[in-house]
Amino acid sequence: MDAVTILRLSPEIAERIRKHGAETYPHECCGALLGRDADAAGQGEQTPPREVLDLFPLVNRRDDSPRNRFSVTSEDVLAAEKAARALGIDVVGWYHSHPDHPAEPSQYDRDHAWPWYSYIIVSVANGQPQRMTSWRLNDDRAGFTSEDLEIGQRASV
Ligand SMILES: [Zn+2]
Repeated sequence: MDAVTILRLSPEIAERIRKHGAETYPHECCGALLGRDADAAGQGEQTPPREVLDLFPLVNRRDDSPRNRFSVTSEDVLAAEKAARALGIDVVGWYHSHPDHPAEPSQYDRDHAWPWYSYIIVSVANGQPQRMTSWRLNDDRAGFTSEDLEIGQRASV
């Protein structure tokens, strides 16, 4: 699959991710992206992109190095999936911040990521949220492919 993927989110959701990163600075924030995957049924014409509709913020449990790595536990995954199901949607990805580092996946991120999910990274410099990017792990796990972030209102409900 070589096509560029798109992740759509509202300005409000984008702002919440930025705020979370500013709040936890100089530590990383992390959380789940709840939403709907691209609708394969819309083949041929316009396929709606993967869409983030809500967030599920997580507590950074890495006591040893909370500044530069986050970890998502299996309990976190279950809790996020439960929250998504309660809304009738799915966990489509994860977000975290990079305090004083670029919004690009680290080696640690690659080692701990799963294919399929979208990974949003927001860089936070001196407490101020900066660039926000989104990535998907390649199927061979050799690296990430960047995906387009489309920040705008939902076209339809
Ligand atoms: Zn990272």
